Amino acid sequence: MNPQLHELKSRLIEINDLNSAAALLRWDQTTYMPAGGAEARGRQLATLGSLAHAKFTDPAIGRLLDRLERETAALAYDSDDAALLRVTRREYDRAVRLPVAFVSELNQHTAAAYQVWTTARPANDFARVRPNLEKTLDLSRRMAGFFPGYESIADPLIDFSDYGMKTATVRAVFSELRARLVPLVRAIAEKPAADDRCLRHDVPEAQQLAFGLDVIRRFGFDFERGRQDKTHHPFMTKFSLGDVRITTRVRPHDITDSLFSTLHESGHAMYELGIRRDYEGTPLAEGTSSGVHESQSRLWENVVGRSLGFWQFFYPRLQAAFPQQLGGTGIDTFYRAVNRVARTLIRTDADEVTYNLHVMLRFDLELDLLEGRLAVKDLPRAWGERFERDFGLAVPDDRDGVLQDVHWFAGLIGGAFQGYTLGNVLSAQFFDAARRAVPGIPADITRGEFGALHGWLGENVYQHGSKFTAAELVERATGAPMSIEPYMAYLWSKYQPLYGLEANPAAAAGAPRR
Ligand code: ZN
Repeated sequence: MNPQLHELKSRLIEINDLNSAAALLRWDQTTYMPAGGAEARGRQLATLGSLAHAKFTDPAIGRLLDRLERETAALAYDSDDAALLRVTRREYDRAVRLPVAFVSELNQHTAAAYQVWTTARPANDFARVRPNLEKTLDLSRRMAGFFPGYESIADPLIDFSDYGMKTATVRAVFSELRARLVPLVRAIAEKPAADDRCLRHDVPEAQQLAFGLDVIRRFGFDFERGRQDKTHHPFMTKFSLGDVRITTRVRPHDITDSLFSTLHESGHAMYELGIRRDYEGTPLAEGTSSGVHESQSRLWENVVGRSLGFWQFFYPRLQAAFPQQLGGTGIDTFYRAVNRVARTLIRTDADEVTYNLHVMLRFDLELDLLEGRLAVKDLPRAWGERFERDFGLAVPDDRDGVLQDVHWFAGLIGGAFQGYTLGNVLSAQFFDAARRAVPGIPADITRGEFGALHGWLGENVYQHGSKFTAAELVERATGAPMSIEPYMAYLWSKYQPLYGLEANPAAAAGAPRR
Protein backbone atom coordinates (compact mmCIF):
# COMPACT_ATOMS: atom_id res chain seq x y z
CA MET A 1 0.00 0.00 0.00
CA ASN A 2 1.05 3.59 -0.63
CA PRO A 3 2.90 4.60 2.59
CA GLN A 4 1.02 7.92 2.89
CA LEU A 5 -2.29 6.11 2.55
CA HIS A 6 -1.13 3.64 5.18
CA GLU A 7 -0.25 6.50 7.52
CA LEU A 8 -3.59 8.23 6.93
CA LYS A 9 -5.50 5.03 7.67
CA SER A 10 -3.48 4.39 10.84
CA ARG A 11 -4.26 7.89 12.08
CA LEU A 12 -7.95 7.55 11.21
CA ILE A 13 -8.19 4.21 13.01
CA GLU A 14 -6.58 5.71 16.11
CA ILE A 15 -9.13 8.56 16.07
CA ASN A 16 -11.89 6.02 15.55
CA ASP A 17 -10.64 4.09 18.59
CA LEU A 18 -11.03 7.20 20.74
CA ASN A 19 -14.54 7.80 19.38
CA SER A 20 -15.49 4.16 19.87
CA ALA A 21 -14.28 4.25 23.48
CA ALA A 22 -16.46 7.35 23.97
CA ALA A 23 -19.41 5.53 22.39
CA LEU A 24 -18.95 2.65 24.81
CA LEU A 25 -18.89 5.06 27.77
CA ARG A 26 -22.05 6.72 26.44
CA TRP A 27 -23.79 3.36 25.96
CA ASP A 28 -22.90 2.42 29.54
CA GLN A 29 -24.10 5.83 30.77
CA THR A 30 -27.60 5.16 29.42
CA THR A 31 -27.88 1.47 30.29
CA TYR A 32 -26.02 0.32 33.43
CA MET A 33 -24.07 3.20 35.00
CA PRO A 34 -25.11 4.07 38.56
CA ALA A 35 -26.17 7.72 38.99
CA GLY A 36 -23.03 8.43 41.02
CA GLY A 37 -20.93 8.03 37.89
CA ALA A 38 -22.55 10.95 36.03
CA GLU A 39 -20.13 13.75 36.80
CA ALA A 40 -16.92 11.84 36.08
CA ARG A 41 -18.50 10.25 33.01
CA GLY A 42 -19.23 13.69 31.56
CA ARG A 43 -15.60 14.68 32.06
CA GLN A 44 -14.30 11.42 30.58
CA LEU A 45 -16.42 11.90 27.47
CA ALA A 46 -15.24 15.50 27.10
CA THR A 47 -11.61 14.35 27.40
CA LEU A 48 -11.97 11.68 24.73
CA GLY A 49 -13.90 14.08 22.47
CA SER A 50 -11.20 16.77 22.70
CA LEU A 51 -8.44 14.24 22.04
CA ALA A 52 -10.23 12.90 18.96
CA HIS A 53 -10.93 16.42 17.64
CA ALA A 54 -7.30 17.48 18.18
CA LYS A 55 -5.98 14.38 16.42
CA PHE A 56 -8.35 14.74 13.48
CA THR A 57 -7.63 18.44 12.94
CA ASP A 58 -3.85 17.90 13.11
CA PRO A 59 -2.38 19.74 10.07
CA ALA A 60 -0.50 16.50 9.28
CA ILE A 61 -3.85 15.00 8.21
CA GLY A 62 -4.40 17.95 5.88
CA ARG A 63 -0.92 17.48 4.36
CA LEU A 64 -1.52 13.75 3.86
CA LEU A 65 -4.85 14.49 2.15
CA ASP A 66 -3.27 17.15 -0.11
CA ARG A 67 -0.52 14.82 -1.20
CA LEU A 68 -2.73 11.75 -1.65
CA GLU A 69 -5.31 13.71 -3.64
CA ARG A 70 -2.58 14.72 -6.10
CA GLU A 71 -1.15 11.21 -6.34
CA THR A 72 -4.48 9.45 -6.72
CA ALA A 73 -6.22 11.92 -9.02
CA ALA A 74 -6.47 9.18 -11.67
CA LEU A 75 -8.39 6.75 -9.44
CA ALA A 76 -11.91 5.82 -10.51
CA TYR A 77 -14.67 7.62 -8.58
CA ASP A 78 -15.98 4.41 -7.07
CA SER A 79 -12.62 2.98 -6.00
CA ASP A 80 -12.47 2.52 -2.24
CA ASP A 81 -9.33 4.65 -1.88
CA ALA A 82 -10.86 7.55 -3.80
CA ALA A 83 -14.00 7.28 -1.65
CA LEU A 84 -11.93 7.23 1.54
CA LEU A 85 -10.08 10.40 0.53
CA ARG A 86 -13.31 12.11 -0.56
CA VAL A 87 -15.18 11.39 2.67
CA THR A 88 -12.18 12.12 4.91
CA ARG A 89 -11.58 15.42 3.08
CA ARG A 90 -15.20 16.46 3.58
CA GLU A 91 -15.07 15.70 7.30
CA TYR A 92 -11.62 17.22 7.75
CA ASP A 93 -12.55 20.50 6.05
CA ARG A 94 -15.61 20.67 8.26
CA ALA A 95 -13.74 19.87 11.49
CA VAL A 96 -10.92 22.39 10.98
CA ARG A 97 -13.43 25.22 10.68
CA LEU A 98 -14.59 24.62 14.24
CA PRO A 99 -12.40 26.29 16.86
CA VAL A 100 -11.47 23.93 19.71
CA ALA A 101 -12.87 26.42 22.23
CA PHE A 102 -16.24 26.39 20.44
CA VAL A 103 -16.40 22.59 20.37
CA SER A 104 -15.64 22.46 24.07
CA GLU A 105 -18.20 25.19 24.88
CA LEU A 106 -20.84 23.35 22.85
CA ASN A 107 -20.12 20.01 24.52
CA GLN A 108 -20.24 21.49 28.01
CA HIS A 109 -23.41 23.41 27.23
CA THR A 110 -25.31 20.46 25.74
CA ALA A 111 -24.35 18.21 28.67
CA ALA A 112 -25.68 20.82 31.11
CA ALA A 113 -28.80 21.55 29.02
CA TYR A 114 -29.63 17.85 28.86
CA GLN A 115 -29.40 17.50 32.65
CA VAL A 116 -31.80 20.43 33.14
CA TRP A 117 -34.23 19.00 30.56
CA THR A 118 -34.39 15.61 32.34
CA THR A 119 -35.97 17.32 35.36
CA ALA A 120 -37.81 20.15 33.56
CA ARG A 121 -39.85 17.88 31.29
CA PRO A 122 -41.49 15.80 34.06
CA ALA A 123 -42.06 19.05 35.98
CA ASN A 124 -43.66 20.65 32.87
CA ASP A 125 -41.38 23.63 33.44
CA PHE A 126 -40.39 25.41 30.22
CA ALA A 127 -39.07 28.40 32.16
CA ARG A 128 -36.35 26.16 33.62
CA VAL A 129 -34.94 25.25 30.18
CA ARG A 130 -35.47 28.64 28.55
CA PRO A 131 -32.06 30.23 29.32
CA ASN A 132 -30.29 27.08 28.11
CA LEU A 133 -32.41 26.92 24.99
CA GLU A 134 -31.58 30.55 24.21
CA LYS A 135 -27.91 29.69 24.47
CA THR A 136 -28.44 26.60 22.28
CA LEU A 137 -30.00 28.82 19.63
CA ASP A 138 -27.05 31.19 19.85
CA LEU A 139 -24.57 28.29 19.54
CA SER A 140 -26.53 26.85 16.59
CA ARG A 141 -26.31 30.17 14.77
CA ARG A 142 -22.61 30.46 15.56
CA MET A 143 -22.09 26.90 14.30
CA ALA A 144 -23.69 27.81 10.97
CA GLY A 145 -21.57 30.96 10.90
CA PHE A 146 -18.39 28.87 10.64
CA PHE A 147 -19.64 27.78 7.18
CA PRO A 148 -20.33 31.06 5.38
CA GLY A 149 -21.82 31.23 1.91
CA TYR A 150 -25.01 29.33 2.68
CA GLU A 151 -28.45 30.20 1.27
CA SER A 152 -30.26 29.38 4.50
CA ILE A 153 -28.73 29.42 7.97
CA ALA A 154 -29.97 25.84 8.47
CA ASP A 155 -28.06 24.57 5.41
CA PRO A 156 -24.77 23.81 7.19
CA LEU A 157 -26.62 22.07 10.03
CA ILE A 158 -28.62 19.90 7.60
CA ASP A 159 -25.44 19.17 5.67
CA PHE A 160 -23.82 17.60 8.79
CA SER A 161 -26.37 14.80 8.96
CA ASP A 162 -27.83 14.69 5.44
CA TYR A 163 -24.89 15.67 3.27
CA GLY A 164 -25.95 17.25 -0.01
CA MET A 165 -29.38 18.38 1.21
CA LYS A 166 -30.28 22.02 1.73
CA THR A 167 -33.17 23.78 3.44
CA ALA A 168 -34.67 24.48 0.01
CA THR A 169 -34.54 20.82 -1.08
CA VAL A 170 -36.01 19.60 2.20
CA ARG A 171 -38.73 22.25 2.00
CA ALA A 172 -39.67 21.19 -1.53
CA VAL A 173 -40.02 17.53 -0.48
CA PHE A 174 -41.96 18.50 2.64
CA SER A 175 -44.44 20.79 0.92
CA GLU A 176 -45.18 18.18 -1.74
CA LEU A 177 -45.61 15.53 0.95
CA ARG A 178 -47.72 17.77 3.13
CA ALA A 179 -50.10 18.59 0.28
CA ARG A 180 -50.79 14.87 -0.11
CA LEU A 181 -50.70 13.77 3.54
CA VAL A 182 -53.07 16.34 5.02
CA PRO A 183 -56.09 15.20 2.93
CA LEU A 184 -55.20 11.55 3.63
CA VAL A 185 -55.13 12.17 7.39
CA ARG A 186 -58.44 14.03 7.10
CA ALA A 187 -60.07 11.20 5.11
CA ILE A 188 -58.95 8.63 7.69
CA ALA A 189 -60.13 10.81 10.57
CA GLU A 190 -63.64 10.83 9.09
CA LYS A 191 -63.79 7.03 9.36
CA PRO A 192 -64.50 5.14 12.58
CA ALA A 193 -61.37 5.05 14.75
CA ALA A 194 -59.48 1.77 14.97
CA ASP A 195 -59.66 0.07 18.34
CA ASP A 196 -56.27 -0.74 19.83
CA ARG A 197 -57.41 -1.96 23.25
CA CYS A 198 -56.15 -5.44 22.38
CA LEU A 199 -52.58 -4.10 22.73
CA ARG A 200 -53.14 -2.79 26.26
CA HIS A 201 -52.47 -5.84 28.37
CA ASP A 202 -50.03 -6.64 31.11
CA VAL A 203 -47.26 -8.71 29.58
CA PRO A 204 -44.19 -9.91 31.49
CA GLU A 205 -41.07 -8.04 30.44
CA ALA A 206 -38.93 -11.12 29.83
CA GLN A 207 -41.43 -12.57 27.36
CA GLN A 208 -41.77 -9.26 25.51
CA LEU A 209 -38.01 -9.08 25.10
CA ALA A 210 -37.71 -12.73 24.05
CA PHE A 211 -40.33 -12.31 21.33
CA GLY A 212 -38.58 -9.27 19.85
CA LEU A 213 -35.22 -11.02 19.85
CA ASP A 214 -36.72 -14.01 18.05
CA VAL A 215 -38.08 -11.74 15.31
CA ILE A 216 -34.80 -9.91 14.69
CA ARG A 217 -32.90 -13.21 14.68
CA ARG A 218 -35.13 -14.20 11.76
CA PHE A 219 -34.48 -10.78 10.14
CA GLY A 220 -30.79 -11.68 10.16
CA PHE A 221 -29.50 -9.66 13.13
CA ASP A 222 -26.18 -11.30 14.05
CA PHE A 223 -26.02 -11.96 17.81
CA GLU A 224 -22.35 -12.91 17.49
CA ARG A 225 -21.76 -9.24 16.63
CA GLY A 226 -24.47 -7.48 18.58
CA ARG A 227 -26.74 -7.50 21.61
CA GLN A 228 -29.73 -5.69 23.07
CA ASP A 229 -30.05 -3.99 26.46
CA LYS A 230 -32.68 -1.82 28.13
CA THR A 231 -32.71 1.98 28.28
CA HIS A 232 -35.18 4.89 28.52
CA HIS A 233 -34.83 6.33 25.01
CA PRO A 234 -33.91 3.51 22.62
CA PHE A 235 -30.94 3.95 20.28
CA MET A 236 -28.32 2.00 18.32
CA THR A 237 -24.59 2.46 18.75
CA LYS A 238 -21.49 0.85 17.31
CA PHE A 239 -18.07 0.15 18.83
CA SER A 240 -16.74 -1.68 15.77
CA LEU A 241 -18.16 -3.58 12.81
CA GLY A 242 -18.04 -6.65 15.05
CA ASP A 243 -19.92 -5.06 17.96
CA VAL A 244 -23.13 -3.12 17.30
CA ARG A 245 -25.52 -2.55 20.22
CA ILE A 246 -29.22 -1.87 20.24
CA THR A 247 -31.41 -0.81 23.15
CA THR A 248 -35.11 -0.96 23.84
CA ARG A 249 -37.57 0.05 26.54
CA VAL A 250 -40.40 -2.05 27.91
CA ARG A 251 -43.81 -0.70 28.79
CA PRO A 252 -45.45 -3.35 30.96
CA HIS A 253 -49.00 -2.58 29.77
CA ASP A 254 -48.24 -2.49 26.05
CA ILE A 255 -47.69 -5.66 24.05
CA THR A 256 -45.99 -4.15 21.00
CA ASP A 257 -44.15 -0.98 22.11
CA SER A 258 -40.91 -2.75 22.97
CA LEU A 259 -41.24 -5.01 19.91
CA PHE A 260 -41.46 -2.14 17.41
CA SER A 261 -38.60 -0.35 19.13
CA THR A 262 -36.47 -3.51 18.79
CA LEU A 263 -37.39 -3.88 15.09
CA HIS A 264 -36.56 -0.20 14.48
CA GLU A 265 -33.16 -0.32 16.14
CA SER A 266 -32.34 -3.66 14.52
CA GLY A 267 -32.78 -1.95 11.14
CA HIS A 268 -30.18 0.66 12.11
CA ALA A 269 -27.91 -2.08 13.43
CA MET A 270 -28.15 -4.39 10.39
CA TYR A 271 -27.11 -1.44 8.20
CA GLU A 272 -23.94 -0.94 10.24
CA LEU A 273 -23.30 -4.69 10.55
CA GLY A 274 -23.55 -5.04 6.78
CA ILE A 275 -20.80 -2.52 5.99
CA ARG A 276 -17.74 -4.05 4.32
CA ARG A 277 -15.38 -5.26 7.02
CA ASP A 278 -12.31 -3.77 5.30
CA TYR A 279 -13.75 -0.27 5.94
CA GLU A 280 -13.33 -0.87 9.69
CA GLY A 281 -12.09 2.15 11.61
CA THR A 282 -12.31 4.58 8.69
CA PRO A 283 -14.92 7.27 7.93
CA LEU A 284 -16.39 4.89 5.30
CA ALA A 285 -17.58 2.53 8.06
CA GLU A 286 -20.71 4.57 8.87
CA GLY A 287 -24.18 4.83 7.41
CA THR A 288 -24.12 7.50 4.72
CA SER A 289 -26.74 9.93 6.04
CA SER A 290 -29.39 10.24 8.70
CA GLY A 291 -32.13 9.93 6.05
CA VAL A 292 -30.73 6.67 4.66
CA HIS A 293 -30.10 5.36 8.18
CA GLU A 294 -33.66 6.09 9.17
CA SER A 295 -34.93 4.47 5.98
CA GLN A 296 -33.38 1.20 7.12
CA SER A 297 -34.95 1.32 10.58
CA ARG A 298 -38.34 2.32 9.17
CA LEU A 299 -38.22 -0.36 6.51
CA TRP A 300 -37.95 -3.15 9.09
CA GLU A 301 -40.18 -1.51 11.70
CA ASN A 302 -43.02 -0.37 9.44
CA VAL A 303 -42.88 -1.58 5.85
CA VAL A 304 -42.08 -5.12 7.07
CA GLY A 305 -43.03 -5.15 10.76
CA ARG A 306 -46.48 -3.56 10.44
CA SER A 307 -47.45 -5.42 7.26
CA LEU A 308 -50.21 -7.99 7.05
CA GLY A 309 -47.83 -10.59 5.59
CA PHE A 310 -45.48 -10.23 8.57
CA TRP A 311 -48.31 -10.77 11.02
CA GLN A 312 -49.72 -13.71 9.08
CA PHE A 313 -46.54 -15.48 10.13
CA PHE A 314 -45.90 -13.93 13.54
CA TYR A 315 -49.38 -13.37 14.97
CA PRO A 316 -50.05 -17.07 15.73
CA ARG A 317 -46.66 -17.08 17.48
CA LEU A 318 -47.48 -13.94 19.45
CA GLN A 319 -50.83 -15.47 20.45
CA ALA A 320 -49.07 -18.65 21.54
CA ALA A 321 -46.66 -16.56 23.64
CA PHE A 322 -49.49 -14.54 25.22
CA PRO A 323 -52.59 -16.79 25.10
CA GLN A 324 -54.39 -15.05 27.98
CA GLN A 325 -53.93 -11.60 26.50
CA LEU A 326 -54.44 -12.32 22.78
CA GLY A 327 -56.18 -15.70 22.62
CA GLY A 328 -59.56 -14.11 21.87
CA THR A 329 -58.31 -11.46 19.42
CA GLY A 330 -58.32 -12.24 15.69
CA ILE A 331 -55.52 -11.16 13.37
CA ASP A 332 -57.68 -8.54 11.63
CA THR A 333 -58.36 -6.73 14.89
CA PHE A 334 -54.71 -6.94 15.87
CA TYR A 335 -53.46 -5.78 12.45
CA ARG A 336 -55.81 -2.78 12.58
CA ALA A 337 -54.62 -1.99 16.09
CA VAL A 338 -50.92 -1.89 15.20
CA ASN A 339 -51.75 0.38 12.25
CA ARG A 340 -54.17 2.68 14.05
CA VAL A 341 -54.02 6.23 12.66
CA ALA A 342 -54.79 8.94 15.18
CA ARG A 343 -53.89 12.56 15.73
CA THR A 344 -51.87 12.39 18.92
CA LEU A 345 -49.49 14.63 20.85
CA ILE A 346 -46.25 12.66 20.85
CA ARG A 347 -44.07 12.25 17.76
CA THR A 348 -42.41 9.02 18.83
CA ASP A 349 -45.79 7.34 19.38
CA ALA A 350 -47.25 8.63 16.10
CA ASP A 351 -48.49 6.33 13.33
CA GLU A 352 -47.02 6.18 9.82
CA VAL A 353 -49.52 8.63 8.31
CA THR A 354 -49.37 11.47 10.86
CA TYR A 355 -45.71 11.04 11.82
CA ASN A 356 -44.31 13.32 9.12
CA LEU A 357 -46.57 16.19 10.15
CA HIS A 358 -44.85 16.12 13.56
CA VAL A 359 -41.49 16.39 11.81
CA MET A 360 -42.59 19.27 9.56
CA LEU A 361 -43.83 21.24 12.57
CA ARG A 362 -40.40 20.98 14.21
CA PHE A 363 -38.53 21.72 10.99
CA ASP A 364 -40.52 24.92 10.38
CA LEU A 365 -40.24 26.12 13.98
CA GLU A 366 -36.47 25.55 13.86
CA LEU A 367 -36.22 27.72 10.77
CA ASP A 368 -38.31 30.42 12.44
CA LEU A 369 -35.95 30.36 15.42
CA LEU A 370 -32.73 30.27 13.38
CA GLU A 371 -33.88 32.98 10.99
CA GLY A 372 -34.95 35.24 13.85
CA ARG A 373 -38.71 35.26 13.28
CA LEU A 374 -39.42 33.49 16.55
CA ALA A 375 -37.96 34.10 20.01
CA VAL A 376 -37.36 31.19 22.38
CA LYS A 377 -39.72 32.76 24.92
CA ASP A 378 -42.56 32.53 22.38
CA LEU A 379 -41.79 28.95 21.35
CA PRO A 380 -44.42 27.18 23.52
CA ARG A 381 -47.14 29.48 22.16
CA ALA A 382 -45.97 28.98 18.57
CA TRP A 383 -45.86 25.22 19.12
CA GLY A 384 -49.42 25.20 20.46
CA GLU A 385 -50.80 27.29 17.60
CA ARG A 386 -49.13 25.22 14.92
CA PHE A 387 -50.16 21.96 16.57
CA GLU A 388 -53.77 23.04 16.77
CA ARG A 389 -53.67 24.01 13.09
CA ASP A 390 -52.05 20.75 11.90
CA PHE A 391 -53.63 18.24 14.26
CA GLY A 392 -56.82 19.93 15.47
CA LEU A 393 -55.71 19.26 19.04
CA ALA A 394 -55.02 21.64 21.89
CA VAL A 395 -51.64 20.98 23.50
CA PRO A 396 -52.45 20.57 27.20
CA ASP A 397 -48.98 21.32 28.55
CA ASP A 398 -45.33 21.82 27.58
CA ARG A 399 -44.36 18.34 28.79
CA ASP A 400 -46.26 16.79 25.89
CA GLY A 401 -45.60 19.81 23.69
CA VAL A 402 -42.39 21.68 23.18
CA LEU A 403 -40.47 19.70 25.84
CA GLN A 404 -41.21 16.23 24.45
CA ASP A 405 -38.13 15.64 22.25
CA VAL A 406 -34.60 15.45 23.57
CA HIS A 407 -33.03 16.92 20.39
CA TRP A 408 -33.08 20.64 21.22
CA PHE A 409 -31.84 19.87 24.73
CA ALA A 410 -28.97 17.57 23.81
CA GLY A 411 -27.69 19.09 20.59
CA LEU A 412 -28.24 21.94 18.18
CA ILE A 413 -31.45 23.54 16.95
CA GLY A 414 -31.58 22.57 13.29
CA GLY A 415 -30.42 19.71 11.13
CA ALA A 416 -31.77 16.73 13.07
CA PHE A 417 -35.46 16.24 12.30
CA GLN A 418 -35.55 16.14 8.50
CA GLY A 419 -33.81 12.75 8.53
CA TYR A 420 -36.87 11.05 10.02
CA THR A 421 -39.16 12.06 7.17
CA LEU A 422 -36.54 11.51 4.47
CA GLY A 423 -36.16 8.05 6.02
CA ASN A 424 -39.88 7.32 5.80
CA VAL A 425 -39.92 8.38 2.15
CA LEU A 426 -36.83 6.32 1.30
CA SER A 427 -37.97 3.23 3.21
CA ALA A 428 -40.75 2.71 0.66
CA GLN A 429 -38.48 3.51 -2.29
CA PHE A 430 -35.84 0.96 -1.20
CA PHE A 431 -38.46 -1.70 -0.46
CA ASP A 432 -40.06 -1.11 -3.83
CA ALA A 433 -36.72 -1.55 -5.59
CA ALA A 434 -35.98 -4.74 -3.61
CA ARG A 435 -39.39 -6.17 -4.55
CA ARG A 436 -38.86 -5.35 -8.21
CA ALA A 437 -35.49 -7.11 -8.14
CA VAL A 438 -36.73 -10.09 -6.09
CA PRO A 439 -40.50 -10.47 -6.64
CA GLY A 440 -40.71 -13.30 -4.08
CA ILE A 441 -39.94 -10.99 -1.13
CA PRO A 442 -43.58 -10.34 -0.05
CA ALA A 443 -44.34 -14.08 -0.11
CA ASP A 444 -41.13 -14.75 1.86
CA ILE A 445 -42.29 -12.35 4.55
CA THR A 446 -45.53 -14.33 5.05
CA ARG A 447 -43.32 -17.38 5.76
CA GLY A 448 -41.05 -15.54 8.19
CA GLU A 449 -38.18 -15.64 5.70
CA PHE A 450 -36.14 -12.48 5.27
CA GLY A 451 -32.93 -13.68 3.64
CA ALA A 452 -33.69 -12.30 0.17
CA LEU A 453 -34.67 -8.86 1.49
CA HIS A 454 -31.71 -8.70 3.87
CA GLY A 455 -29.46 -9.86 1.03
CA TRP A 456 -30.72 -7.20 -1.38
CA LEU A 457 -30.25 -4.46 1.23
CA GLY A 458 -26.77 -5.78 2.06
CA GLU A 459 -25.75 -5.75 -1.58
CA ASN A 460 -27.33 -2.42 -2.55
CA VAL A 461 -27.24 -0.34 0.63
CA TYR A 462 -25.42 -1.76 3.65
CA GLN A 463 -22.05 -2.81 2.22
CA HIS A 464 -21.20 0.64 0.86
CA GLY A 465 -21.20 2.47 4.21
CA SER A 466 -20.45 6.13 3.41
CA LYS A 467 -18.74 5.39 0.11
CA PHE A 468 -21.57 6.99 -1.85
CA THR A 469 -23.59 10.04 -0.84
CA ALA A 470 -27.26 9.49 -0.07
CA ALA A 471 -28.27 10.85 -3.48
CA GLU A 472 -25.78 8.57 -5.26
CA LEU A 473 -26.79 5.53 -3.24
CA VAL A 474 -30.53 6.02 -3.84
CA GLU A 475 -29.97 6.43 -7.55
CA ARG A 476 -27.73 3.34 -7.77
CA ALA A 477 -29.96 1.14 -5.62
CA THR A 478 -33.38 2.16 -6.93
CA GLY A 479 -32.60 3.49 -10.40
CA ALA A 480 -34.15 6.88 -9.63
CA PRO A 481 -33.59 9.96 -7.49
CA MET A 482 -35.49 10.23 -4.19
CA SER A 483 -39.22 10.51 -4.84
CA ILE A 484 -42.27 10.57 -2.60
CA GLU A 485 -44.32 8.50 -5.08
CA PRO A 486 -43.39 5.02 -3.77
CA TYR A 487 -44.12 6.20 -0.23
CA MET A 488 -47.51 7.68 -1.12
CA ALA A 489 -48.39 4.53 -3.10
CA TYR A 490 -47.33 2.41 -0.11
CA LEU A 491 -49.49 4.43 2.31
CA TRP A 492 -52.51 4.30 0.01
CA SER A 493 -52.30 0.58 -0.72
CA LYS A 494 -52.09 -0.11 3.00
CA TYR A 495 -54.56 2.38 4.50
CA GLN A 496 -57.22 2.29 1.78
CA PRO A 497 -58.39 -1.21 2.73
CA LEU A 498 -57.73 -0.65 6.45
CA TYR A 499 -60.06 2.35 6.59
CA GLY A 500 -62.29 1.62 3.60
CA LEU A 501 -61.32 4.88 1.90
CA GLU A 502 -63.30 5.57 -1.27
CA ALA A 503 -61.25 7.95 -3.39
CA ASN A 504 -57.54 8.57 -3.03
CA PRO A 505 -57.30 12.07 -1.56
CA ALA A 506 -53.52 11.82 -1.80
CA ALA A 507 -53.43 10.93 -5.50
CA ALA A 508 -50.71 12.62 -7.47
CA ALA A 509 -53.13 14.30 -9.88
CA GLY A 510 -53.36 17.98 -9.11
CA ALA A 511 -50.59 17.78 -6.56
CA PRO A 512 -47.25 19.33 -7.40
CA ARG A 513 -44.69 16.95 -8.87
CA ARG A 514 -40.95 17.20 -8.83
ZN1 ZN B 1 -34.14 5.68 14.11
